[in-house]
Amino acid sequence: MSGGVQDWRVELVRTYADLFHPFGDPPRAEGWPCVGDGWRDLLERACKRIRAAVEADGGTFHATQIKEKYGSLRFYWHGSLSPEADAKVEEAVDLAEARSACTCEVCGEEGRLRGDAWLTTRCALHAEGRPAVAVRPGLENVQIEERYVGDRRVIRYRRYDREHDRFVDVDPTSLGIEEE
Ligand SMILES: [Zn+2]
Repeated sequence: MSGGVQDWRVELVRTYADLFHPFGDPPRAEGWPCVGDGWRDLLERACKRIRAAVEADGGTFHATQIKEKYGSLRFYWHGSLSPEADAKVEEAVDLAEARSACTCEVCGEEGRLRGDAWLTTRCALHAEGRPAVAVRPGLENVQIEERYVGDRRVIRYRRYDREHDRFVDVDPTSLGIEEE
């Protein structure tokens, strides 16, 4: 990750200077992307969506950390937005994180989680011998999200549709999951 080709990171932080802090010296920005080249596209998509939400809202936003952990993207941010804009930003972040989980961090082609102690998302070409982590058939790219709306527990099942870069709600009974 050090040295060499970091042009896209500089370009991203400059292009979306309004989303990064401090301004002016991209590698020193808190949200400087510490991820492989294969995730460039998904970060560009995320920044574009986030900017649209923040600009429409007039609130504040800055990325505080963008990194890889356990094979997928972590995008942390800080800001003050209306609940509606906050939800749009969270959705943009969720989409980027879901896309990272099925996108090779080296080349950007479709990938899957590989490894054991050290997890990484790679395509077959860049697997470097790491075994794919087993996923129960039918649960590929499915996210199970637990939230509280007031004191009511809400569980949402959705599948990341990589082709269309969106989430599609799924019926838990179709996944063979007992709904509580
Ligand atoms: Zn690859």
